[in-house]
Amino acid sequence: MSARRTARRPEWDRSAVYIGGRWRETASGRTVEVENPATEAATGTAADAGAADAEAAVSAAAAAFPSWSALPPRERLAVLERVRGALERRRDLLVETTVAEVGAPLRVAREAHVDTGLDVLRAYLDAAGDLAWEERVGNSLVLREGIGVAACITPWNYPLYQVLAKIGGALAAGAAVVLKPAELTPLSAYLLTDAIDEADVPPGVFNLVPGPGRVVGEALAAHPGVDAVSFTGSTRVGARVAAVAAAGIKRVSLELGGKSASVLLPGADLEAAVPASVDAAMLNSGQTCTAWTRLLVPRADLDAALHLAAAHAGALVVGDPARPGTDLGPVVSAAQRRTVTGFIERAEAAGARIVAGGAERPAGLPRGHYVRPTIVTGVAPGAEIVQEEVFGPVLAVQPYDGVEEAIALANGTPYGLAGAVWGPDRDSAVAVARRLRTGQVDINGGAFNPAAPFGGYGRSGNGRELGRWGIEEFLETKALQL
Ligand code: NAD
Repeated sequence: MSARRTARRPEWDRSAVYIGGRWRETASGRTVEVENPATEAATGTAADAGAADAEAAVSAAAAAFPSWSALPPRERLAVLERVRGALERRRDLLVETTVAEVGAPLRVAREAHVDTGLDVLRAYLDAAGDLAWEERVGNSLVLREGIGVAACITPWNYPLYQVLAKIGGALAAGAAVVLKPAELTPLSAYLLTDAIDEADVPPGVFNLVPGPGRVVGEALAAHPGVDAVSFTGSTRVGARVAAVAAAGIKRVSLELGGKSASVLLPGADLEAAVPASVDAAMLNSGQTCTAWTRLLVPRADLDAALHLAAAHAGALVVGDPARPGTDLGPVVSAAQRRTVTGFIERAEAAGARIVAGGAERPAGLPRGHYVRPTIVTGVAPGAEIVQEEVFGPVLAVQPYDGVEEAIALANGTPYGLAGAVWGPDRDSAVAVARRLRTGQVDINGGAFNPAAPFGGYGRSGNGRELGRWGIEEFLETKALQL
């Protein structure tokens, strides 16, 4: 079965940047092709902007900032309500675009990418309505003001959601935004910009500059007119962005990689916890920063857990993401596929046992960047597959002896973004979660909350997105003594 071709849409053939409230050609006129990872065919084009375009975008944002930040918050929120409405009207197209440029299966594109993005924007609007924009502290009046020009640099794995997680907070705060989306997935950002244009956001408040990270991203991080840099991506590039921005004393928020653990305590419901953990590892073909890529189980439960995990992974439908019923689409690119299969091959060479999947191509899928959902075990705590982010559909299962060891293993990587604890009751799971050095922990399958703070400990980054916390990343605080 070869992947079904998603029809190419006129909305995906783009060449312009959006600066100062209008579309304009880039200084160089160059464009790049966007690949559909399921078909390996070009599915659209995008601007290949450069440093001069970044410069123009920062100028437009700086010019727009004073009046945008001076608006009463409820007037800014009314503008953002219009943006949300314009996005909702494009919901189906956004889903189709996510399928085409990420390779996410339809259901995942709809629920995890687009609807979650809209939920996050709604939660920002609610939080901004409740925020203490001014408060009295003794003889002081404390004011919260937009930080200035915010450069937002985003990755390819959830291209709409990641952008909304940043610009929702930034625009609600009164900052003016320059967005540099990921090279591999610029089309969702173009559709978002169409919605912003339709919603009559004041010119210059939002600017879109798609282009290479080391050119446009770095120009933004270094630009003296940029006050805040909000970056989501790899730890390696995040460190570079922070170093470049440091010279200008900018505020820097980093949402980086993860190696999160799902911890099954003795007495947890294996039949619920194991399949849910496999799903969380495989969601979006494992290209999720919060993916639970390690499953920690009591040694006595190891065989049962491996059996459940292998059966669940083996039953996942891998294939054309545009076909309803597909669980896993391809990974985003040929390079990503090589990276992921390289991790699997090296783990196997180092003695890991593959209990489901493996590095070879899934049967019947000769084209597309497909990887089989893979479960490995027999891995040492220091093994590469346990320590490093794979960003593909790979789960490592590790046994532990005693809860203290489980906590040590869960905390035993440089990362700390997410995780889960499954216990016989909520209190025992919460007690363990309190000891995990990580930003989000789901207790016994607790659901994602778009109003709760999101971000990492350690090398998973700093700063928080979503809800009130995501707005505060883009606020300055001023005290007037009366
Ligand atoms: P990446 O770091 O390669 O790129 C991220 C963004 O940075 C892209 O827009 C890229 O163009 C830009 N960039 C690259 N070099 C740059 C430079 N020198 N200066 C400025 N910008 C530059 O990451 P990716 O491959 O797009 O995404 C995958 C990574 O993102 C994974 O490690 C994943 O864990 C992480 N991620 C983290 C979160 C989170 O919230 N913590 C969310 C999603 C993805």
